[in-house]
Amino acid sequence: MEKIILHLDVDAFFASVEQLDNPELRGKPVIVGGIGERGVVATCSYEARKYGIHSAMPGFLARQKCSQAVFLPVRMKRYKDVSNDIFRLLNRYTDKIEALSIDEAFLDISGYEDKYLSVARTIKENIKKQMGLTVSIGISYNKFLAKMASDWEKPDGFKVITEDMMPDIILPLPVGQVYGIGSKTVSKLNELGVYRVEDLMRWPLEYMVNFFGKQGEDIYHLIRGIDAREVEPEKEMKSIGREITLDKDTDDIQELTEYLKGFSYHISYALRVKDLYAKTVTVKIKTDRFAQHTKSRTLSRPIDKSKDIYKEGALLLKEMQLKEKIRLIGLSVSNISEDYYEQMSLF
Ligand SMILES: [Mg+2]
Repeated sequence: MEKIILHLDVDAFFASVEQLDNPELRGKPVIVGGIGERGVVATCSYEARKYGIHSAMPGFLARQKCSQAVFLPVRMKRYKDVSNDIFRLLNRYTDKIEALSIDEAFLDISGYEDKYLSVARTIKENIKKQMGLTVSIGISYNKFLAKMASDWEKPDGFKVITEDMMPDIILPLPVGQVYGIGSKTVSKLNELGVYRVEDLMRWPLEYMVNFFGKQGEDIYHLIRGIDAREVEPEKEMKSIGREITLDKDTDDIQELTEYLKGFSYHISYALRVKDLYAKTVTVKIKTDRFAQHTKSRTLSRPIDKSKDIYKEGALLLKEMQLKEKIRLIGLSVSNISEDYYEQMSLF
């Protein structure tokens, strides 16, 4: 392979750290977050996933699904320390590392040429030995396929996708496995008789762009194994956000607010793992008639906590005074800076 990209993802990170620190929790359904009346699951162990529990699920629902699960508070400081150890370890192998979150990264290991497999195995073994955590690793000649490979046999996965495996390996996959194709799009595709990548591969480029919008061109290339994105170690974070296309259009503020709460957790993690703060919060909605609206507020002091991000988001949503049903809701923060005090000193 000309370029060798490794994608690494710690398995059930927060829950695994809890099981590591408390041996009594090993082998048990452990849920981090989701405590309190309106809490949301941050991460859950694989034992809990067997009950259909997943991250961003409301805590009360998780309790219904598995009453014997152990619920724990989020210990961000501890996870961050472990994360720093992992990234320090990764740094011994390459400095071409792009952190995607607290427990996920792309590494460009092209420099190792034909030794890349043993290097990747060593990384996996050392994280297990030194930190006691299992990771899933995917390796390929671009980011898209490396990420797909690490998802392949989670947890504790190790999968390589080489050029000669394409396109056969990707053709039978359900379309939902392709980066950028969400669950709502999947059902629309299914209605058109498109279930697998194989079916999508028959669409000409113009058709893809018509259906997916500007993303269509990317997806057209991705399913053909074409992805020129580089691993970017110092990738500047201009904004951090999440959005979801709803399974069913709604104007239920309560339900929409619940999504904002889930997003605010993820955004907060993404900020805190890099010691970043944000000052601007934005809510984005798309109506069932495809009109897009955004509303932002820039605060006088930078924030990084989920409850602060959530509070602003919920307020903005309320101020938008929805009159139509919503098909998409998103929350993001921008105006991001590294130093809390640096931002504060502006006042
Ligand atoms: Mg993970």
